[in-house]
Amino acid sequence: MEIRNVIIIGGGPAGLSAALYTARAGLKPLVLAGSPPGGQLMLTTEVENFPGYEEIMGPDLIQTLRKQVLKFGTEILDDNVKEIVTSSHPFTIKTHKTEYSTKAVIIATGAQAMWLGLESETRLRGKGVSACATCDGFFFKNKIVAVVGGGDTAMEEAQTLAKFAKKVYLIHRKDSFRASKIMQVRVRENPKIEIIMNTSITKVLGEQKVEGVELVVSHQPSAVSRLKLDGVFIAIGHKPDTAVFKDTILLDKKGYIVTSAVAALDIAKNIPRPDGVMFDYTYQSMTSVPGVFAAGDCVDHTYRQAGTAAGMGIASALDIERWIEKKEVI
Ligand SMILES: Cc1cc2nc3c(=O)[nH]c(=O)nc-3n(C[C@H](O)[C@H](O)[C@H](O)COP(=O)(O)OP(=O)(O)OC[C@H]3O[C@@H](n4cnc5c(N)ncnc54)[C@H](O)[C@@H]3O)c2cc1C
Repeated sequence: MEIRNVIIIGGGPAGLSAALYTARAGLKPLVLAGSPPGGQLMLTTEVENFPGYEEIMGPDLIQTLRKQVLKFGTEILDDNVKEIVTSSHPFTIKTHKTEYSTKAVIIATGAQAMWLGLESETRLRGKGVSACATCDGFFFKNKIVAVVGGGDTAMEEAQTLAKFAKKVYLIHRKDSFRASKIMQVRVRENPKIEIIMNTSITKVLGEQKVEGVELVVSHQPSAVSRLKLDGVFIAIGHKPDTAVFKDTILLDKKGYIVTSAVAALDIAKNIPRPDGVMFDYTYQSMTSVPGVFAAGDCVDHTYRQAGTAAGMGIASALDIERWIEKKEVI
């Protein structure tokens, strides 16, 4: 079986940026981009905050990145990885159809925003329904929006939106927030934010764009009301796509991949690798398995932007280049 230099798992901004750099370094990367490929940007419309583009549709940005990496000799297959075996080197990457052998791996499988699961919510995604205030808040200048959720993320989203919107409703289905006290205080003190507790959204209203929501008071299914809105931000959490790596790579308790950079941040707590050895801090994107690197939203639960994911992808490619050179495994 041919031994690849590097296999990149994931075809979003992180994976494709890693491909760009490893391809230009002559490593001939194979990207297993997943199925469906493209990642979270495929779910959005205008992107106005990716450097270099005043405005581009999310799927067009992915298409442009794919074209760019193909030009430098990247191979892309829209296939899902089901297992990686790292107990011997070179590593084995298994998809549902076949398996590959590789000297190094970059995991860039991203994350998925969690949604309420309403048909109307899915239909109006990108048309007023969003899961990212940093990405889309700017489109709601002087508008009325709602944030759904009760954790720190929901509090942050509400505050971010309050910088743009005329009014922000924070809707939570329980009678208390899960968020930290300080975040709750900031939200309660913000005059633009109105809190609605014990209430769930049962329908997003509107045909072409969001016009409002239908609300139900918890434990009183007959108490239905309507609220006029221009946008709805769902902030009930994110789930990293890392389940297939759980037996191989160290994950944190929320399922995000722990890299040297993450371990270094937590150095006071001295996060050891499962084998007891300390992380190698020379390579910030290296995971608990030397030779396996990770980048983008599958690692990062803080910034979660296409630009930061691309930057992490680039950093992981540079780490791999240096690692391969130093270890002389090529
Ligand atoms: C609705 C929405 C709007 C957004 N708008 C913006 C915006 O305007 N600006 C901005 O900067 N950011 C925006 N974001 C955030 C941005 O999309 C993400 O931060 C970015 O896409 C993360 O890139 P990534 O490459 O880490 O992961 P992803 O984009 O999630 O890509 C992950 C890739 O991994 C693949 N994959 C997953 N599992 C496997 C597997 N087992 N095998 C193989 N492949 C696999 C997926 O198919 C996908 O190709 C938005 C997000 C959402 C949800």
